[in-house]
Amino acid sequence: MRNSLMLLLLLSFHFLSAQNYSLQIESLLKKEQSTNLDCYKNLHAHPELSTKEFNTAAYLRKTIQSYGYEIIDSLGYQSFAAVIKNGNGPTILYRTEMDGLPVKEETSLPYASTVVSIKDNEPFSVMHACGHDVHMTTWLGIAKVLSQFKNNWKGTLVMLAQSAEETAQGAKKLITSPNFNLIPQPTYQLAIHNNGDLKAGEVGFCDGYAMAAVDMINITIYGKGGHGAAPQNAIDPIVLSAQYINEIQTIVSRNLSPNDPAIVTVGAIHGGTAGNIIPNQVILKLTIRSYSKEARETIINRLKEIGDNLAAAAGLSKDKFPLYEILDMSIPSLYNNAELGKKIKNIIEHKFGAVVIKQVKPVMLGEDFGVYGQQLSNIPSYLLWMGTLNPEIKNTDHPVIYSPHSSHFAPFAEECIPRNISIISNCLIELFKSVN
Ligand SMILES: [Zn+2]
Ligand SMILES: [Zn+2]
Repeated sequence: MRNSLMLLLLLSFHFLSAQNYSLQIESLLKKEQSTNLDCYKNLHAHPELSTKEFNTAAYLRKTIQSYGYEIIDSLGYQSFAAVIKNGNGPTILYRTEMDGLPVKEETSLPYASTVVSIKDNEPFSVMHACGHDVHMTTWLGIAKVLSQFKNNWKGTLVMLAQSAEETAQGAKKLITSPNFNLIPQPTYQLAIHNNGDLKAGEVGFCDGYAMAAVDMINITIYGKGGHGAAPQNAIDPIVLSAQYINEIQTIVSRNLSPNDPAIVTVGAIHGGTAGNIIPNQVILKLTIRSYSKEARETIINRLKEIGDNLAAAAGLSKDKFPLYEILDMSIPSLYNNAELGKKIKNIIEHKFGAVVIKQVKPVMLGEDFGVYGQQLSNIPSYLLWMGTLNPEIKNTDHPVIYSPHSSHFAPFAEECIPRNISIISNCLIELFKSVN
């Protein structure tokens, strides 16, 4: 009798402590609020450009090491992983990006960036305009919580700090770096991104294709230069380019299924020097966005077919057919695993209420987190959209909303950072428990 009473007491204590950890995280975050905000403001005021996040990486590395994590270094550019092993259980990888953007900040915040860096031999103002400073502060906060609540989970947590997300170089470099093999194989992979349309504390879900594959292509259209007053002796690459730009608009509208969205945008056209000279060539710069591999292949094949055939029709020989250069900036689309999404949704609904869960439509922006989920393996991955708006704002207020990459982008850090840390820490702890 006495023993069973003891057991009952122990079990109820265990049950209460399991339930209470969420409340304990909340009170820890209240205590840490000013430390976390100082960390955010410091990161915000000192952004570094892609591949050059030297001080940022050093700061993150030193801080997370002080929480008891072990570092796996040399993962390409400034990328590193911090690993904490806590008994037998699943392995979860959680990624942050570290880079700022070449944007001149116009927020007028007291901690606004005044950093000027050198890019391609030119001075450029730098700003954390994509909110990677929010992501990093959240990342450190989660790392601390998980290290302090080790009694509530079992497994291995891999905290990945990635260089050069904005230039689509970081993840590709990381998975091909020799030290990548030292990272334990994850059961799940998670990341977050700021969302300027959602309020702080709201979490946006988009199952399946959530962000697009990105390709940047330069195309040189050749011709035969000559006098602008004697076009009969020339083959005009300006006219050819105009035909080409119009014709490739039919790829999305005529060659792809309406259910398989894609974009072909010509963002730059460079050719010619004067009104009376027909130039030898014109250079076009394009971005291609797609979700499925089939759509991506169709677009690239059609760009070549249309270009080659127009060149032939203009009377150019094969050696003067266009030159197609796919730049080393391609990334695959980002695919959110629906089953993992459902698990996370259930955890958040149970802990924070259904009211914080929002459905978000897929976007044609790119994110190289997709590299981890699609190129190497079929490890279930999910990128959650996390709100940055002041939750006090009413829908009737019609606030001016600035999105990431705007020089005015100013997340409501006081609210979104503790919300992010709390939500993701709870998700991680429960995900660790959900896999045996
Ligand atoms: Zn960005
Ligand atoms: Zn970003």
